[in-house]
Amino acid sequence: MTAPLLEVRGVDTYYGPVQALRQVSLHVDRGEIVTLIGANGAGKTTLLMTVFGSPRATVGEVYYRGEDITRVPTHQIATRGIAQVPEGRHIFPAMTVEENIVMGTIPIGQAHLDADRQAMFELFPRLKERRNQRAGTLSGGEQQMLAIARALMGRPELILLDEPSLGLAPLIVKRIFEVLKEVAQSGKTIFLVEQNANHALRLADRGYVMVNGEIRLEGSGAELLSNPEVREAYLGGH
Ligand code: ATP
Repeated sequence: MTAPLLEVRGVDTYYGPVQALRQVSLHVDRGEIVTLIGANGAGKTTLLMTVFGSPRATVGEVYYRGEDITRVPTHQIATRGIAQVPEGRHIFPAMTVEENIVMGTIPIGQAHLDADRQAMFELFPRLKERRNQRAGTLSGGEQQMLAIARALMGRPELILLDEPSLGLAPLIVKRIFEVLKEVAQSGKTIFLVEQNANHALRLADRGYVMVNGEIRLEGSGAELLSNPEVREAYLGGH
């Protein structure tokens, strides 16, 4: 049996005296789209940050491609094939769209720059139209697309996304989730943290539900969508 691409095993994470994660275990296999849903403050962002080693797990381990990366320095993790699209997007507003895209090559160098930039402009025609515009002038949805494009420029095998739908209009959210599906179909593995349980569970092969820093439920996207507890807490009881 091959190891999962990403495996979190029995992780506790603290902020000073505050425990944010409690015995969290989950895994993401190659080619999957896996989502982690949960309310505000459940610990979802902390889990993504723990994978990147900042803050570090106090107890437990994080494995990537079967290797223990729990104590690997944060700046080295990106060079191993994991990219993060952080909440709030963190694009460089004063730089152009194209300059932001080029920044995404930092983990791997610029050997594939021309081909990869071309591929990004095909995936995101809107970014091509706006390539010379300052990124800070883009709409929220375009900035989210830019953050995804920048992450892809590092040729990651695994992409971690933190609430890509946050603050975006429904039509734009739909488009973002379509893009994520295309990205997955192109061979990338996706781990998606979301409060938008409906969209996330429809997209995902599997999902986990986090409550107060613990994994409460896990199952296929379809199983979780029909789970009464999930429906009540995250889908407005519908
Ligand atoms: P959100 O959807 O708001 O991002 P989340 O599920 O991602 O929520 P986290 O941001 O991981 O949740 O927060 C988990 C817990 O850790 C919360 O109780 C939060 O208050 C706490 N926390 C987060 N960051 C810090 C920090 N830097 N210092 C202290 N406590 C923190």
